[in-house]
Amino acid sequence: MEAAPTPPTALAFSGQDILLPGAGAPGLLEGGPAAALSRDFAWEGRSYRAFLFGEAEAAALEAGGASRLPVRQALAELGQEEARPLLRGLALLRWLETARHCGACGGLLEDCPPEGEEPGGRRCPACGRVFFPRISPAVILLITKGGKILLAHNARFPAGRFGLIAGFVEAGETLEETAIREAREEAGIEIGGLRYLRSQPWPFPDSLMFAFRAEWRSGEARPDGREIAELRWCGPDELPTIPPSGSIARALIDEFEAEARGRA
Ligand SMILES: [Zn+2]
Repeated sequence: MEAAPTPPTALAFSGQDILLPGAGAPGLLEGGPAAALSRDFAWEGRSYRAFLFGEAEAAALEAGGASRLPVRQALAELGQEEARPLLRGLALLRWLETARHCGACGGLLEDCPPEGEEPGGRRCPACGRVFFPRISPAVILLITKGGKILLAHNARFPAGRFGLIAGFVEAGETLEETAIREAREEAGIEIGGLRYLRSQPWPFPDSLMFAFRAEWRSGEARPDGREIAELRWCGPDELPTIPPSGSIARALIDEFEAEARGRA
């Protein structure tokens, strides 16, 4: 007798939240409402099926015992590695939402065959163009000056919260050029000594964050007054409210703090 294949692990999303089955409740998706979109994918040898539910369907699942948790909070609670399938599933669903029609001729896109040359893509049967998940690169900067780092209060942040200077890469730009431009535009300063640290996928909706360390070179930090409302140079003992765990900004600030305390 042939063993039945293991069913994929279901990941249910709505908006930027994950829906978790309630304790003792029946399977989240058995006999439940229909998902607007779904996508199968593999991660570290395991197979997953990600579902995206509309608000009404998500409310029905919640009424049936499911609980709803923002993916950003799940990142903080699960840790980076555990959360990777969530990031991938959400990124794929967010892309599928906008990958219905060909951007060139308007034809209805179809999934490329998984065994073909372009697995994971969506193909236009009318003109043959193939589209892949959109990924928007962005740079995030830990800028140091003496024993302090530059923290920025973005106008969209909750009151009192500070993060790091960050911005999207423009067409034709290198990551290093983005870093220099963002420091100039958002803070009015010149930086140097750029050192790449690492990256983090951030599917809200489709960013890939490249983290750099940089040193202040010249200029007085002045907020641009549009995106950035306030700037501060902070030592390890002067940190205001910073972004929650799970974000790369928080990890970089935590590392600076640990390093500064280790040196003291
Ligand atoms: Zn087309």
